[in-house]
Amino acid sequence: MSAAHTRKLIIEVRANEFAMRDRNPLVPWSADELAEDAAECREAGAAIYHFHPRGPDGEAAFDFESYRQPVTRIRASCDLLVYPTLGAFDRAQSAPERLAPILALAEAGQVPDIAPIDMGSTNVDRFDAARGWFTTQERIYINTHATLRHFAEQLRGAGVKPQLVCWNLPMLRCACAFIRAGLVDQPAWIYLGMSEASLAHHPGTPRGMMALVDFLPEDLGHEWTVSLNGGNLLPLASLAITLGGHVSIGIGDHPYDELGTVRNADLVRRVAALARDCGRALATPAEARRMLGMD
Ligand code: ZN
Repeated sequence: MSAAHTRKLIIEVRANEFAMRDRNPLVPWSADELAEDAAECREAGAAIYHFHPRGPDGEAAFDFESYRQPVTRIRASCDLLVYPTLGAFDRAQSAPERLAPILALAEAGQVPDIAPIDMGSTNVDRFDAARGWFTTQERIYINTHATLRHFAEQLRGAGVKPQLVCWNLPMLRCACAFIRAGLVDQPAWIYLGMSEASLAHHPGTPRGMMALVDFLPEDLGHEWTVSLNGGNLLPLASLAITLGGHVSIGIGDHPYDELGTVRNADLVRRVAALARDCGRALATPAEARRMLGMD
């Protein structure tokens, strides 16, 4: 355990995802809002900033400028590592179409530092616990091994660090296979994503998280981080900090209205305080870059 305490903590901000403003009016959507939010998060101790391009009414946006402008403005406002999501899977079906926004940014001289790869296929219907049934019944998120390999190879070619997104144990096993196959460089950046509303994810409980942590590959260089969609991550964040993992948190994943009306930077400050209490210092963006083997 002592080794874990000497390692710096990377805080990643999940700024907005697909969150609307009904439960938290402070979700950043526009490029200016994202840039201001990012600068506050940097000040509070974050190292990485992840966002989804959004239109004026919060709708998911897919045009190139909706990707380019936030990246440009965030980089003008602070030195956080920054990355948008890929293209939406249910609009652009092919692997090249989904990766196109990332490669277009790279061609335009704004290479995203990181890009997420969801390491498997699952049902993605949301489960409405109050109603006791799914809100849809036929949504499938397809990521074939050919698609994943295409992403890994193209991202390597573009100089973008892949974040290996794992919602469940089979996705983590797939991530390990990609590392072993040499398609992803070590140290790999492994993301353990819990969710309350998606049954394809592990639940946001210590047991749900530990079922993934127990299968992290001891023989492969990696750093890992934890997130929770649809719930308060802070209890799991303490556990991850204690175990030497990192933390990915934001009002994009959950409004955190149980804490009042909070900004992303407020959450970063809370995680920073947990880290301090556990004896872990925070990684700067430059330190995170080195820890993730991006230099
Ligand atoms: Zn995202």
